[in-house]
Amino acid sequence: MKLLRYLSLALISIWLPAQAVQAEESPIAIAIHGGAGTIERSKLAPEQERAYRQKLTEAVNAGYRVLEDGGESLDAVSAAIRILEDSPLFNAGVGAVYTYEGRHELDASIMEGKSRQAGAVAGVTRVRNPIDLARMVMEDSPHVMLAGTGAEAFAQSRDMDMVDNSLFDTERRRKQLEDAKKKIEAETRRQSSEQAAVEALPVAFRMGTVGAVALDKAGNLAAGTSTGGMTAKRYGRIGDSPVIGAGTFADNASCAVSATGHGEYFIRFNVAADICARVQYQGKSVAEAADAVINDVLRPVGGTGGVIVLDAAGNIALTFNTPGMYRASRSSGSPLSVGIFDKE
Ligand code: ASP
Repeated sequence: MKLLRYLSLALISIWLPAQAVQAEESPIAIAIHGGAGTIERSKLAPEQERAYRQKLTEAVNAGYRVLEDGGESLDAVSAAIRILEDSPLFNAGVGAVYTYEGRHELDASIMEGKSRQAGAVAGVTRVRNPIDLARMVMEDSPHVMLAGTGAEAFAQSRDMDMVDNSLFDTERRRKQLEDAKKKIEAETRRQSSEQAAVEALPVAFRMGTVGAVALDKAGNLAAGTSTGGMTAKRYGRIGDSPVIGAGTFADNASCAVSATGHGEYFIRFNVAADICARVQYQGKSVAEAADAVINDVLRPVGGTGGVIVLDAAGNIALTFNTPGMYRASRSSGSPLSVGIFDKE
């Protein structure tokens, strides 16, 4: 009898710490961004600031709820991004910037870290939530990236609702297009180079791309990014957002990244994959790796922007070399945090 009691006590004391360890070993986390750029406190009216903070909070909480309920990181990423795509505040979905011709061409990608499956769409004009189509490409096609009318034909073949391109219209972005065209024309005359004129456009003309990274209870990472790209873009220009390794990357062995910034630089410097390579092969923390790429690699060559990064232990880095980045995060180890400017 005594022996039995001793054995059951011993079993309880083994079982309890094991449970505690398991709880500690299953962190969940999510981080989101809504673009990086010259966001200054003095230029953002208090009611605008409130609107941004509210929308970021709503999106990060929606993703966090999925994780809390035991859902997959891919679903958390999609849930958060859909909310940001549906908001006119951000340059993705409704509120996307205009092309030179006055339309909207949307890019998005998604990746999961367990088996490194990925899906992406570029230059789509009639899909309400491009992040959902990117996921469909990943899960329901043999390909990684589909573009333009082909991507839309694929969407229709999978019974996705098609919308009119005018659904994404906003007055604010239309005005931005007019400003951008004037600036490009004046700069082209001055520099005799359209390429230099487009490069010289201030960051504000592409601000507002959205993205999310998440870690679920099963220990799987995922990342996603969605954008309208760059104001006044022409000739089918595609940025980094739908390019796996540049704007989006996820690998359970290292980290998950979603980027925002001057896409051409993020493609050339393979930003998202470079950050995760530093985590994996150099043993850097996500904060060290993100800081090295954003500040030591991109800044000296003039590449502006930022990243959100998450590893399988739930460590989060929100790093940017611009005056601000719309961002929010929440994890089992840290409460909700929302930031816009350099100092929150
Ligand atoms: N990276 C996006 C692009 O170049 C824009 C942005 O994130 O601001 O299309």
